[in-house]
Amino acid sequence: MNVLVTGGAGYIGSHSVAELLEAGHDVVVVDNLCNGSEQALRRVEGITGKSVSFEECDIRDRESLGRVFGNHDIDAVIHFAGLKAVGESVNVPLAYYDNNVHGTTVLCEAMAAAGVFKLVFSSSATVYGVEAPVPYQEDMPRGTTLNPYGTSKAMVETILEDLCKADDRWAVSLLRYFNPIGAHPSGLIGEDPQGIPNNLMPFISQVAIGRRDGLSIFGSDYPTEDGTCVRDYLHVVDLAVGHLKALERLSDPGVYTYNLGTGSGVSVLEMVKTFTEVTEVDVPYRFAPPRDGDLPAFWADSSKAQEELGWCAEKGLEEMMRDTWCWQSKNPEGYS
Ligand code: NAD
Ligand code: UDP
Repeated sequence: MNVLVTGGAGYIGSHSVAELLEAGHDVVVVDNLCNGSEQALRRVEGITGKSVSFEECDIRDRESLGRVFGNHDIDAVIHFAGLKAVGESVNVPLAYYDNNVHGTTVLCEAMAAAGVFKLVFSSSATVYGVEAPVPYQEDMPRGTTLNPYGTSKAMVETILEDLCKADDRWAVSLLRYFNPIGAHPSGLIGEDPQGIPNNLMPFISQVAIGRRDGLSIFGSDYPTEDGTCVRDYLHVVDLAVGHLKALERLSDPGVYTYNLGTGSGVSVLEMVKTFTEVTEVDVPYRFAPPRDGDLPAFWADSSKAQEELGWCAEKGLEEMMRDTWCWQSKNPEGYS
């Protein structure tokens, strides 16, 4: 297939481009580089020995996007492009709705105009909202989201469902990610957040490499075994493989929703402990007040992805830590 990957120069996108190329697909990446790096794509070419077409373009720019579809005979789209910082989304909600929601509608219009109706969308476990019991299952309703980022993902899911109801040419996969971490085992591509990392794993690895003094653990009194929050961390390469499988499944019209997680939860303290055990690098930490909007614990029921896609997360926590550290220690300043 000839696959257009929006946001392919970012963290999950670049790992997915590598898997697509390895599987024999051709890839065109569209990215405005607001949080991605063209360097990541050049490194993916080094890893796979295959070339990637890159178009520097904002998905909200109808004309440029139309030109991309005109210049390439696209069969399907994997849509990663968007803004993802939860805290920032509270301060600049319009930027999040514009990029994530409006960007997706412009993309769908460009796809339809080009006769492309297969779409894999990056959604998030956050759409289950505050009410859902764990483990999350796909047939649970979307719940109350606590920030514009989460709401934008829930809105896009609704829009794509409506689109499929209105026009039976569309085949859409909604992939609800849990917490992707880790890096390609080569250490050549990985997560390179701009500024202070919001997420736990890049914060831990930046403390370990000496770019930050210490980790603040948000909350020590949650109703979990050790009092710190519990999440379902999965290896980014497993997640990338999930996209490949979802894409291959998209032969019939309709909406297909899958959780992509490991099915088990790990606490923040366990994350720090495992990182230190695997890397033998100490990560100083202190407890800080809970972060607004954090849920105590959630993890996936990923049995639907296993049954219907033949996908399950194969890489364990130690491998996630090892690969994170390989990337971080080979690239202390990321791609720059
Ligand atoms: P990322 O920021 O590394 O990648 C997103 C890419 O999209 C970047 O390269 C950025 O430059 C590009 N982009 C942003 N807006 C764009 C626009 N308007 N036009 C063109 N390109 C644009 O993020 P990621 O971690 O790789 O996440 C990819 C997707 O997965 C996002 O939609 C994110 O919301 C979703 N997601 C991520 C996580 C996570 O923990 N990383 C969890 C759940 C869902
Ligand atoms: N976390 C933390 N310190 C940090 C970053 C995150 O203690 O510097 C905690 C956070 O409170 C949450 C967990 O680590 O319980 C995972 O946070 P992350 O932002 O990576 O994922 P999300 O909250 O989106 O699940």
